[in-house]
Amino acid sequence: MTRKKSPGKSVAGIALSAAFALAAMPLSAAGTAFRVAAAQVDITPKNGTPMAGFYKFRAVDGVMDPIYAKSIVVEQNGEHAVMVVLDLCFTTRPMVTAARKAIEEQCGIAGDRVMISATHTHSGPQLPRGSLMDDITKVTTPPGMAYIKELPALIAQSVSEAKAKLKPAKPAAAIGKADGISFNRRVLRNGSKEAIWLPLKIDPAIERPAGPIDPDVGVLVFQGHADGAEPIAAWLNFAMHPVSVDAGLKISADYPGVFTRLVRERHGPGMIAVFANGCCGNLGHGDYLSGKKRSTLELGTALADATTVAWPNLKSLKTTVPRVRSAQVTLQRRTFSEADIARAKDIVSRMMTENLGTVTMAEAVCILETVGKQSMPLVAEVQVIAFSDELAIVALPGEIFVELGLALKKASPFKYTFIAELANGSIGYVPDRDAYPQGNYEVVSARCEAGSGEKLIEVALKLLNEMAKP
Ligand SMILES: [Zn+2]
Repeated sequence: MTRKKSPGKSVAGIALSAAFALAAMPLSAAGTAFRVAAAQVDITPKNGTPMAGFYKFRAVDGVMDPIYAKSIVVEQNGEHAVMVVLDLCFTTRPMVTAARKAIEEQCGIAGDRVMISATHTHSGPQLPRGSLMDDITKVTTPPGMAYIKELPALIAQSVSEAKAKLKPAKPAAAIGKADGISFNRRVLRNGSKEAIWLPLKIDPAIERPAGPIDPDVGVLVFQGHADGAEPIAAWLNFAMHPVSVDAGLKISADYPGVFTRLVRERHGPGMIAVFANGCCGNLGHGDYLSGKKRSTLELGTALADATTVAWPNLKSLKTTVPRVRSAQVTLQRRTFSEADIARAKDIVSRMMTENLGTVTMAEAVCILETVGKQSMPLVAEVQVIAFSDELAIVALPGEIFVELGLALKKASPFKYTFIAELANGSIGYVPDRDAYPQGNYEVVSARCEAGSGEKLIEVALKLLNEMAKP
């Protein structure tokens, strides 16, 4: 890794570095300024590329709005940390490994200093998963393979472009509130222990959400040192499935595309605005209380409004040299009876020609995939990036239930704890322990056994505690 001298440090920069040097030691007097840069690279697939998000083959036919690999690089004293977010439905371990390797080669930044997450847009390209889904979505045909072959280099390009323009910056954070746009998409009816999934409208006299939502909009802004300078980047965090856009076979970033565009327009057209999805495994935009259907534009605007309201409350963070810690967690796969497996085989044999419903198809695919991989360990990476004693970003590798995210935020020793899900790979849905007996979509499509989510949170909390100021 290279050590670069910071060019023309401003007075504020010197004050910040000095305050840090006194507070947090291993920095020598010769320590360089905290620097940041961001870049984005278009990763919109060509027509004909297989799409993600559904249990069938759909080929891209046009673009509603482009999708990007967006990278924020932070650095001090030659130590880097990189947050990449992709406008994709998910990440896979092989793709993340390939991208980290490309980043090492092209940017000289160690792969384990890089966090790569996905926004979870359902109007993006499919990636190979090494499972039945590859056949169902035809992702291993030449157009699908061409996309995945190019992707790691494009991700590395976004990191490389950012790294080339690192400049002194100061981070600031705030938490906005967006109430009333996300909903716990699992509902319980009085007298029943079975969850209802994605109801259109509920009767509040007898039905209630099975769990909470997370209304917090995490806002992390990197401001340049020059007076009146535009922000360099914003890293924005909210938990809700991006399944709102009616794009058909066209590519779209869904509501995160609107959200980040509006934040740029309002707060700095020259900056890169990045959206990382939080623990949204069981959260969607379907408003079953009013029965209203909010558009992609309405959802993105509501989040931008919450960010604009929070903007004046941005609090400067005292920076430290960027720190990154990861842990590999081995989880147990669910097990199934012979009867379950036989039923799943029958469903999968019919699902290409019959419409059997999302939950039925998801369960069958999950059973066969899980059984097929039973001898392979289910390894999940938990990662934490911190460049301040006040803020940490946690990466979790799946679609994490909100209960788990809220528990982690509450227990974290950091003042601000932001979470990026579908990061550094994905193990699929990760319900909290209480949700398993309630069944339905997310539970029947979970690959991991009950208790796995709690284990991930325990490991994340251990890392946070180790990294927090003593
Ligand atoms: Zn999902």
